[in-house]
Amino acid sequence: MKYIDPHIHMVSRTTDDYQRMAQAGCIAITEPAFWAGFDRSSAQGFYDYFRQLTEYEPKRAAQFGIQHFTWLCINPKEADDPGFAREVVSLIPEFLDRGNVLGIGEIGLNKNTKNELIILEEQIALAETHNQLVLVHTPHLEDKLKGTRIIMDALSASNIDPGRCLIDHVEEHTVQEVLDRGFWAGMTLYPDTKVTPQRAADIIEMYGNERIWMNSAGDWGCSDPLAVPKARLEMKRRGHTSGTIDKVTLDNPQTFLSQSERFVIDDQ
Ligand SMILES: [Zn+2]
Repeated sequence: MKYIDPHIHMVSRTTDDYQRMAQAGCIAITEPAFWAGFDRSSAQGFYDYFRQLTEYEPKRAAQFGIQHFTWLCINPKEADDPGFAREVVSLIPEFLDRGNVLGIGEIGLNKNTKNELIILEEQIALAETHNQLVLVHTPHLEDKLKGTRIIMDALSASNIDPGRCLIDHVEEHTVQEVLDRGFWAGMTLYPDTKVTPQRAADIIEMYGNERIWMNSAGDWGCSDPLAVPKARLEMKRRGHTSGTIDKVTLDNPQTFLSQSERFVIDDQ
């Protein structure tokens, strides 16, 4: 079996995780820029992070036969200081030509603040100017539905095709509206909190398998880099066909990501 994990923070995972993912059938990952588990003290910290995402991490992944792609941005958790955020955003264009960069992400909102929204809008404009795909983080702690709506409104106010934007971390109460407005939806699987593999299977059964994917979002906190293969097993247990399982864990990610000409899977 083969699958793609389209949202995982490998800089915070060990090489053993790469090995286990490869053994489970992972052929490609995409890694959005995110919080590092601590607030960086300078824009230079982000510069080095962008170098890590575009230069070093693809080589580490390649050792295990996994293709590594990435997204660049300042994440919403560190975007509440506009001066600092703008300094970071100004560093991004020089990295957009790197071979594994698919777009701008994961941008969005964390606490739904005014400053976060200003920086979100500026990064949407950056994506628009450079014709980039967009990967969106929706709030976990604050009102997710409200935050998701504010983000979708900001995207709709731009000229970016909603079919080139993926709204991640959807849950039962947000997924339908995301799909209805023409965006793609991502489900983030966690072992205990947020969407579990079981809930992801429920969501597929309730809302269908079009324009939706699942990912592990493995990061520096409690998370499971094998969440996607576990969800595949849960779907199999419930009697879903291998066609449906492949659609949400391989074909859909490939369809969305291939809108960037950089996303080419080597062995297909
Ligand atoms: Zn993330």
